[in-house]
Amino acid sequence: MTTLSDHATYAGGTHENGAPRQSDAHSLSLGANGPLLLHDVALVEKLARFDRERIPERSPHAKGSGAFGEFEVTEDVSAYTKAGFLQKGVKTPMMARFSTVAGELGSPDTWRDVRGFALKFYTEQGNFDMVGNNTPIFFLRDPMKFPDFIHSQKRTPDSGLRSGNMQWDFWTLVPESAHQVAYVMGPRGLPRSWREMNGYSSHTYMWVNEAGEKFWVVYHWLSEQGVHNMTNEEAAELAGSDSDYHRRDLFEAIERGDFPSWRLEVQVMPYDEAKDYRFNPFDLTKTWSKKDYPRIPVGRFTLYENPTNHFAEIEQAAFSPSNTVPGTGVSPDKMLLARVFSYPDAQRNRLGTNFNQLPVNAPRTRTNSYDKEGAMQFHHSGAAPVYSPNSYGRPYADEQSISDTGWEADGQMVRAAYTLHAEDDDFGQAHTLVREVYTEEERQELVKTVVGSLADVEEPVLSRVFWYWTQIDQEVGAAIEAAYRAGAEQRVPGNLSVDIDA
Ligand code: NDP
Repeated sequence: MTTLSDHATYAGGTHENGAPRQSDAHSLSLGANGPLLLHDVALVEKLARFDRERIPERSPHAKGSGAFGEFEVTEDVSAYTKAGFLQKGVKTPMMARFSTVAGELGSPDTWRDVRGFALKFYTEQGNFDMVGNNTPIFFLRDPMKFPDFIHSQKRTPDSGLRSGNMQWDFWTLVPESAHQVAYVMGPRGLPRSWREMNGYSSHTYMWVNEAGEKFWVVYHWLSEQGVHNMTNEEAAELAGSDSDYHRRDLFEAIERGDFPSWRLEVQVMPYDEAKDYRFNPFDLTKTWSKKDYPRIPVGRFTLYENPTNHFAEIEQAAFSPSNTVPGTGVSPDKMLLARVFSYPDAQRNRLGTNFNQLPVNAPRTRTNSYDKEGAMQFHHSGAAPVYSPNSYGRPYADEQSISDTGWEADGQMVRAAYTLHAEDDDFGQAHTLVREVYTEEERQELVKTVVGSLADVEEPVLSRVFWYWTQIDQEVGAAIEAAYRAGAEQRVPGNLSVDIDA
């Protein structure tokens, strides 16, 4: 990154044109008590730039932070992918950004929520991004619902407050949310730190090997610090006393040399098995059982370098699942396909057309794109031809690898949910999580957490919440209704991390 020292021509401060400035303390006035003068460039420039410091925050995933490090492949997975950065022994510089989803830029890190887990690898074949979460699933399987979902998790139009009623109204009207809701209301909805949570691609991706064989793949990034969570009480206390708790934890850990690391393991499904797998492997509300597809170790990344400038290197970092490299590709997951469009589009809006030219986003490889101009273009193609094909020697893409990561599709244009596989339904995997993965103690906590989030929920949403949880697990649903009816709810606006003494 370019730093201040690269620019510091003068011992004192400078104007933006590099010339020395007279003062950083006093405005130019006509006499000591006189009016200020418009040609005081030092003052005008300073105020004008201050007025423009904020850029639009991400919506969602606004609040977060990150760090830089290195990814090393320790195992041979060349049978599944030819991607250069996934070959045994290869080390790749990378960065990670962790975040909450619903809260705004200044919101507490410890509100109950899903956490973003976004990675960028500066590979020798271009940037590869994995924009995942700390959960292996998501609330939705169709992107058409995504803006409505986010609206329902943010703020009401009139009061500007967050609303449990709005959240539960949406979730219970869209039961495909059940698995993710059961996950986020459980212990992992409150990670103790970003260092102590796993990351998952959640989406299914494609890998292609040197022979052209295709595989479906899900990435799991397993914390080498272990997975640890906090209680509702701890989270609520920290939301008030240290709203930047997770940001601080990561920065301070790296500063004291306690470098966090994550192991990459993948689930790999042979291409032809997708059709008949018992769950639709492209449905983002589902996981592939590890009993069917055990995880295969690949490598690990370690974060060892803090940002030197949070705004330039973290706030301006732009991740997108459209950033794939040869040997990797996307899948028929509809949520993923929409994100491939929407993520770079959001970055164009947030950072500007040439966001990929910012140092933190720029690939370490040479680029040769006929996309050009737009606001703030720094890198350009000089006098080279600006069109392809051309007869003047500038290379262009030749379509040879177009089917490399494709798949067959044939059918009528429809607006429909996925075709169902044998065990696809909205509640089955949510039930497995609540009944087979959670301990009895975790189930009891879950009941308290859900009841604590119902303080402002009104009919008919309330009855639907009880129905929804009964569909997930009869016993848990009944316990939630009983605890609620016992009058244990307590209103704490806007913070889903509240607990109650049920
Ligand atoms: P497994 O018994 O093999 O896996 C269960 C997994 O659940 C564990 O490996 C762990 O994932 C995760 N887990 C453990 N404790 C919690 C917790 N308190 N909250 C959330 N997740 C937890 O069974 P299956 O693979 O057949 O999956 C069964 C269920 O487990 C799924 O329906 C899903 O809800 C959940 N799950 C499945 C994952 C998958 O990819 N198959 C991943 C995560 C959860 P980890 O080792 O990644 O920490």
